[in-house]
Amino acid sequence: MEDKLAINLITIKQKSALKNPFKEARGIRIKDVNLFYAGAQALKNVSFNIESNKVTALIGPSGCGKSTLLRCLNRMNDQIKGCSVSGSFTLGDTDLYREVNVNLLRKNIGMVFQKPNVFPMSIYENMTYGPKAYGVRDRGELNRIAEECLIKANLWDEVKDRLKESALSLSGGQQQRLCIARCLSINPRVILMDEPTSSLDPISTSKIEELIVELKKDYTIVIVTHNMQQAMRVADKTAFFLLGDLIEYGETKQIFNKPNQEETKKYISGVYS
Ligand code: ADP
Repeated sequence: MEDKLAINLITIKQKSALKNPFKEARGIRIKDVNLFYAGAQALKNVSFNIESNKVTALIGPSGCGKSTLLRCLNRMNDQIKGCSVSGSFTLGDTDLYREVNVNLLRKNIGMVFQKPNVFPMSIYENMTYGPKAYGVRDRGELNRIAEECLIKANLWDEVKDRLKESALSLSGGQQQRLCIARCLSINPRVILMDEPTSSLDPISTSKIEELIVELKKDYTIVIVTHNMQQAMRVADKTAFFLLGDLIEYGETKQIFNKPNQEETKKYISGVYS
């Protein structure tokens, strides 16, 4: 009896620890961020605001810190030995590095990687894995989440008759849309995308780009891309980085048509690779 009570108390404690502190917030304020990898500085005094329900592209030459910044937003750099971060990242009123459990953070800020990383299980199981991990047990609710998120990811019509098949049987582009649908299944506010089309053919790429633009009505999206045309097609805002410095941040049209900084001009005219 006492054991049972103790288990219940633990569950209640865990549940209250997982109470979402972000409320409806969807924008992230980044302030005075410096990041070092074992002493080498990868981000230098970076400050800007990621706006809610917009697509923000992080651009710049290889090694300028785009992925590093993206990974900071859901604390993927925490695992890297010797990596230290200062400054703040705030979603709503909550500091992502101080006041939040990492699991809860990643439930709110999901990530889609360069290569589709479907789980080696069925399409349906990929879709219900996250909700089950967060406590959804009801079969009808799981079915509803799977269908709704596959529809949102523009994949439902292609997979609705083969949900029990392995996710690995899908094409690369379909797998990437499944990864996006899986990310949606745990109801995030922000979706981070690290070069999400770099391993895909042009048709799959354009499907993902259309999807990104559709998704911003419900989610805030941050995308790292080395493809400037892609940034122009999908992003409302663009941040240009060079050697760890944020050189310029603004409306995508302004950055590409009328950049304020000389370095930005050089980058978009192809001087830096
Ligand atoms: P980008 O995404 O713009 O290509 P990154 O954020 O990957 O740039 O890298 C920025 C800098 O940090 C580079 O100099 C890179 O070598 C370094 N870096 C990235 N990841 C690590 C790591 N895990 N350990 C040490 N240095 C790293």
